[in-house]
Amino acid sequence: MISCSQKKSSQSFTAMNTFMTVSLYSSSAKKSREVCTLVQKRIEELEGLLSTTLPFSEVYKINHSESQPSSLSPDLQSLLDFSLELYQKTGGAFNPALYPLIREWGFTTGDYKVPSQERIEKLLQHTDFSKLYEDEKIELDFGAVRKGYAADQALLILKENGIKSALLDFGGNIQALGSKPDGSLWKIGIKNPWDGGVACALSLESKAVVTSGGYERYFEKDGEKYIHIFDPATGHPSQSDLESVTIICESGKYADALSTALFVMGSDVAVDWWRANPDFDFILITKSGSLLYSEGLEGFIEPLYQFASVESVKSVCQD
Ligand code: AMP
Ligand code: MG
Repeated sequence: MISCSQKKSSQSFTAMNTFMTVSLYSSSAKKSREVCTLVQKRIEELEGLLSTTLPFSEVYKINHSESQPSSLSPDLQSLLDFSLELYQKTGGAFNPALYPLIREWGFTTGDYKVPSQERIEKLLQHTDFSKLYEDEKIELDFGAVRKGYAADQALLILKENGIKSALLDFGGNIQALGSKPDGSLWKIGIKNPWDGGVACALSLESKAVVTSGGYERYFEKDGEKYIHIFDPATGHPSQSDLESVTIICESGKYADALSTALFVMGSDVAVDWWRANPDFDFILITKSGSLLYSEGLEGFIEPLYQFASVESVKSVCQD
């Protein structure tokens, strides 16, 4: 247990299009402030590498160049290696090569439109992420993983500086280091997709908690709702049966990439995928109002909404 004489220090800033807050506990207020500033600088450095819109970023330069770069920064190389592995493992549901489609639908500017099917099929031709080093027309977008990667990097800085208790809130991406200073578990609220309130509470320590939801960004046209999470198989916004997906595990980047991938898969395939790869916990909220969660969360999850049904999913199929 950490002593209660620990002082809290919080710093908020905007990066990666998100309001971010770093809260940490340390016996020295001066030290806490210094560590918060180191974290903010590292996040800003990562944004300078991974942004799709800042013209000096590494990703921007790759997306706007006709040739392959001769060398990559260690951060980008590490994200590409991780992403390639996850692209394969998720059968392409996680795909950071959808940028031309995301742009065409207007999600980069807010100037939304439904492109023609012909245009979508043309743009899909350069979204095979496994051809990253062969297809020079591939354009990158790490929107589904960079906040998780940034949280992992922030955690490294906290640990290097001897911090044992901290909570990072990177707009829907939560990363808990250790437990609260009094030794009790952190209590994290998972957003209710319908009214913005809290759907359920989670008690945990030393975990990343990342939620992907269609409610975060979408537009409506002719009675159809088009969300910012794309189905790489169709080039259209996902129409899965899910309203939100929350992933709980140690690695922020894994939680972030998986929250997006499992959303695209839909509840049945997502549960099967978890049974084959049971190295994380999940919370699925379906469009029909059901709450499904992995059995590892039993005793740590508290539903706070009148769901149509609540089910703890077992790792071994019992049907
Ligand atoms: P998230 O909020 O983590 O689910 O990430 C969604 C963001 O990732 C979107 O705003 C897009 O920039 C990008 N994206 C959308 N669909 C996918 C996908 N299937 N795989 C990878 N990135 C995606
Ligand atoms: Mg994600």
